[in-house]
Amino acid sequence: MILSSAAPNEFKALRIITLATDTTCAYRLAGALSCMGVTPLANVESLSAVEAWLSESPVDVIVCEIRSECGDALMLPSLLKGLHAAGTLVQPPSIFWTGEATLNAPVRVIDEKRTFAQQEPGHQLWIKHMGGVSISALESHARLARASGIQVEILREGGTLDLDDALRAVLLTRAQSDLKLRVNTFEALAEDEVINALTTGKGLRFVFQPQFELLSRRVVGAEALVRWKHQRFGEIPPSVLMPLVNRLGLDLLLFSLVEMWTIKVMLALKQFNIGIPIAVNASAKTICTPHFADRLAARMHQADLPNRLLKIELTEDVPEPDELCLSASLTAIRAKGFQISLDDFGTGAATLNLLANMSFDEMKIDGSFVREVERHSSSRKVIAGIVSWAGLLNLNLVAEGIEDESTIVLLHRLGCRVGQGYALARPMEIDDFLNFVTQQKNSQQS
Ligand code: C2E
Ligand code: MG
Ligand code: MG
Repeated sequence: MILSSAAPNEFKALRIITLATDTTCAYRLAGALSCMGVTPLANVESLSAVEAWLSESPVDVIVCEIRSECGDALMLPSLLKGLHAAGTLVQPPSIFWTGEATLNAPVRVIDEKRTFAQQEPGHQLWIKHMGGVSISALESHARLARASGIQVEILREGGTLDLDDALRAVLLTRAQSDLKLRVNTFEALAEDEVINALTTGKGLRFVFQPQFELLSRRVVGAEALVRWKHQRFGEIPPSVLMPLVNRLGLDLLLFSLVEMWTIKVMLALKQFNIGIPIAVNASAKTICTPHFADRLAARMHQADLPNRLLKIELTEDVPEPDELCLSASLTAIRAKGFQISLDDFGTGAATLNLLANMSFDEMKIDGSFVREVERHSSSRKVIAGIVSWAGLLNLNLVAEGIEDESTIVLLHRLGCRVGQGYALARPMEIDDFLNFVTQQKNSQQS
């Protein structure tokens, strides 16, 4: 386990236990934690002891060692998931896996206590096993656990996350989940306020995130996203707002507002002779509203804008039970010259079905694959697969959630030509977006 310096008592508020079947291992884990100024509340020796402990007292982190001869650490996510599903745990603890690392290079024994990996020229060292279990298997298992809501961190020498970073991340997550709890309380009260915001526009605004050609860094499009600032609760993320909007049947009203602001932005850009497509999100339910395509066309005609500038991103948050109706609406929209993009490709339950049975102009690779692309070869393979599907189906491709420069390079190498993400530009307020796009155009001309 990596030991590094941390501010004293920074992690005092965290409730940590260790899971180790023998005392030597328990001491080892406690020793590593004490360097961070943390004393574990206890060591528990088995999964049933974890369950008993959690039924009595809340815990933030369980630290355990991966060992091929004992599967408890690997089974722990499944135990926590079960307890959470049964309502026993409001907030499942984070799991930290640590363990003895084995490098891929041949290990040379120097003396009895010290060994080091012999590095051949040009041969990179990386951890192949932890506690006798393959790192790639551990990473896949951790990813699955995270996908089901259990946070698992692998702490390894040379890895991106060390113990104090991991503890800090838990502190942050706890603060966010406190906020979430407040938001849940808010949710119960908020229906009137959502209706009020949507009907009066109060507190609502729309931001625009540019999309770039990855090689030239030219802006080739944008996505419109809603923002809602609540008087008492501050910024409410779309992940909270959208379910409320959908539940209240206000999705078409929201769509109309986003469309209206998007048209205003398009008209402002038109004055500078800029015509980039802008995407507006819409669920299948919204898209299946009667005469949706005609409405879109009427608005664009009124604004004297060509239909090709408006793109509809099909989200999968509200599935449309009537496939035939969705197919008819998508076909009608495309027939009028609007573009249709399949959002968050790869994450929805019905994505493949949609891709096989409906026609689109574009698919967006979900940020969850993009963010993992550097660390996980499986994500690289998935993206390479999506690139070839896009080619076979003659679809444009946009990679979203690009958070760093090296990912841009890697995605380009994998065949993605267009992307969106914080590394390129964050969603911007309308004036900032207009300045950004027009300035880019001016700098390209000069
Ligand atoms: P989405 O359509 O997939 O939008 C992309 C989301 O990723 C946005 O989150 C954006 O702010 C965020 N994002 C962009 N770049 C990065 C990055 O590099 N890293 C990370 N971690 N995130 C990045 P946002 O605005 O919170 O929206 C979340 C979802 O809510 C959207 O996902 C969309 O499904 C829905 N949504 C947002 N605005 C609207 C809207 O006006 N109408 C509808 N129907 N849905 C909306
Ligand atoms: Mg979208
Ligand atoms: Mg998306």
